[in-house]
Amino acid sequence: MARVAVVEDNADNRLLVRAILEDEFEVTEYETGAEALEGLPAELPDLVLLDISLPGMDGTEVLRRMKEDERLESVPVVALTAHAMAGDRERFLAAGFDEYLTKPIVDESVLMGTIRRHLNPDP
Ligand SMILES: [Mg+2]
Repeated sequence: MARVAVVEDNADNRLLVRAILEDEFEVTEYETGAEALEGLPAELPDLVLLDISLPGMDGTEVLRRMKEDERLESVPVVALTAHAMAGDRERFLAAGFDEYLTKPIVDESVLMGTIRRHLNPDP
C-alpha cells in the first residue's frame, strides 16, 4: 500500500484527509513542518500533502528544505491551501510543488485523482 504523509496543523483537516485516503493508502500525519522534516527522511512516503499555512515554518519553506535533501527531493509534493488567489497554481508549480489543491476539500475524487496521478505518472 502506497504511503501518503499529511503535513497539516489543523486536526480536523488531518482527520478528513485520513478518512478519505485510508482505504487506499497508508496515511501518516505531521502537525508542523519541523516534525515533518524530522520524520520524512526515515519514512520516505510515496507522496506528501503539504499545507501551506503552518505555524513556525510554512509549507513553501518545508518544500524548499525537502528539495535540498537528496533523500526527499524526488518525493512528489502536493500543496494544500485555504487562501486561493489568482496565479497561485503557477506560483506553486514554479516553486517545485507537483500540484496544488485548495481547501476545503469538497470533492474527494479530485484529491484521490491528484494523488493517483502523481504516484503513478504512467497508468
Ligand atoms: Mg494550516
